[in-house]
Amino acid sequence: MPRVQPELRNEPKIALPQRLRINNEGLVEGTRFIPSPNCDARPAGCAINLLVVHHISLPPGKFGGPGIIDLFTNRLDPSAHPFYAGVAGARVSAHFLIRRDGELIQFVACARRAWHAGESSWKGRSRCNDFSVGIELEGIGELPFTDAQYGRLAELTLALGARYPIADIVGHSDIAPGRKCDPGPSFDWVRYRGMLKTLSQGTQAAKKSSTNKSRTGRASVRRSGRRGK
Ligand SMILES: [Zn+2]
Repeated sequence: MPRVQPELRNEPKIALPQRLRINNEGLVEGTRFIPSPNCDARPAGCAINLLVVHHISLPPGKFGGPGIIDLFTNRLDPSAHPFYAGVAGARVSAHFLIRRDGELIQFVACARRAWHAGESSWKGRSRCNDFSVGIELEGIGELPFTDAQYGRLAELTLALGARYPIADIVGHSDIAPGRKCDPGPSFDWVRYRGMLKTLSQGTQAAKKSSTNKSRTGRASVRRSGRRGK
């Protein structure tokens, strides 16, 4: 008897993470959901085909505290930190936050329009909130994001690509140049693209018979060839 069963020889050599699933409302199953009031309906018939990567930390450079959740739920105390006075009451949100340890928190169902991009334009289309999903990485532009964040972001990207016709993945700075600079120079687009490719291939190899075909492999990743580190 062979020591390795033939059907196991083609198993992917990477450890596949738990596959994230997005339900019909656009909620990631089994993920912490903290509803933000800072959202509304997308325009009727508007497809979701853009993914926008951001970074945020509150107070800036401090991680793990309640500031981001408080901001997205309109509970930020403007007196709690000098920086907060300028952002409290901003009425903003994002669909997702990925903490430094990789924890995923959802604030807005993907079927709804989160208020993350502000004044923005991509490929001649303005109002990117209409047709995008916003993902915040907890961090600052000058500090590398964590392995756990890249892993979770790649998983989430694949799940979104399986559910929606995501055509492009961009940074906030790409759709609001001159006004926004996130996710910033420390976000490694080449690494991110590589992880998407590896995960996508591994998923396809492990699930050859799956009908849940990922579109992520076909999505273009903005700046992937220009900003290596
Ligand atoms: Zn942003």
